[in-house]
Amino acid sequence: MGASPSSLEGHRVINCSTRSSISPFFIGNDRAMVSLGPLSSESHCSYHCAFCYVQKGFNSYAKLSVDQIVNFLKPRKSEFSIIYVSGDTDSFAPPRTEEGLALLEALSESFDCDLMFTTRTVFNEKDLKSLKETQETVLENGHFLFGCESITRLRSVPQIEPKPIPSPEARIEMLRAFWRLGLISVLTMRPFLPVVPVEEYREIINICRPFVDIVLGEVLYMDPEGVVERRLFPNGAPENLRLALHKMDFDDNGIEWKVWEAKRVEREVRDYCNAQEIPFFMRSRPAVEYIRKKGLAYIRQRSAS
Ligand code: SF4
Repeated sequence: MGASPSSLEGHRVINCSTRSSISPFFIGNDRAMVSLGPLSSESHCSYHCAFCYVQKGFNSYAKLSVDQIVNFLKPRKSEFSIIYVSGDTDSFAPPRTEEGLALLEALSESFDCDLMFTTRTVFNEKDLKSLKETQETVLENGHFLFGCESITRLRSVPQIEPKPIPSPEARIEMLRAFWRLGLISVLTMRPFLPVVPVEEYREIINICRPFVDIVLGEVLYMDPEGVVERRLFPNGAPENLRLALHKMDFDDNGIEWKVWEAKRVEREVRDYCNAQEIPFFMRSRPAVEYIRKKGLAYIRQRSAS
């Protein structure tokens, strides 16, 4: 599948409408989801993944400073036991890497809870040192820092992750770094995509197996207006693509999304992970619970070995 003009058209689709000042982020289901908000008034993210649900219908979070985010969360801390830095943008992608890491650090110092971040970026040595310091603070508080690196393809359809998104290989190395630093290393194969063969998912898992704690999958959310669909399938969607219609349970946008539930991919990836004895989940909540049940001894023993 080549990058045709129609596939690039969506590249320019921008949806920077943001949540209200009363509700700048999503707090629900015992978790707070925050981010640095849109990159600019013209782009929600430094990256432009073809499959990104923020292109249409998903309101970006507010664009607040690190202090403002912490101050927003403080009076609400009884409403969550984990803070996710993810959701509507990659808060760690250049040019905001330092600010994203400063947000993580401030959250670790201000809240007695688990932290999870999701990214496609590649950190340098200085960044990794900052992550290590944050991990130590979180661990001293008796909690976990989950580092999710998103890798949903290896070789096929490179045009769906246009530059400057780092290569899948470079992102795989980040998982190795997270593991070494003592973070919970999460291979985040999100979303599963109908344009990626399931063998490729098995290959990614096989490469990452020595240095991941958890594998996450996810269904594909496509906006009802077809922006994501046109970018993913510039020559038209496969005829046998079965889609469901439902809302997101991790946001309150209220839209009925066209959802590819990836049942066969989920089944095959789950079977493969089971055979390799790697925990696999489609939702992050049971993944967090799985690690909590293991307790802090798990990460301490792993770091000592
Ligand atoms: S990195 Fe995440 S938020 Fe940014 S474009 Fe890709 S999927 Fe969307």
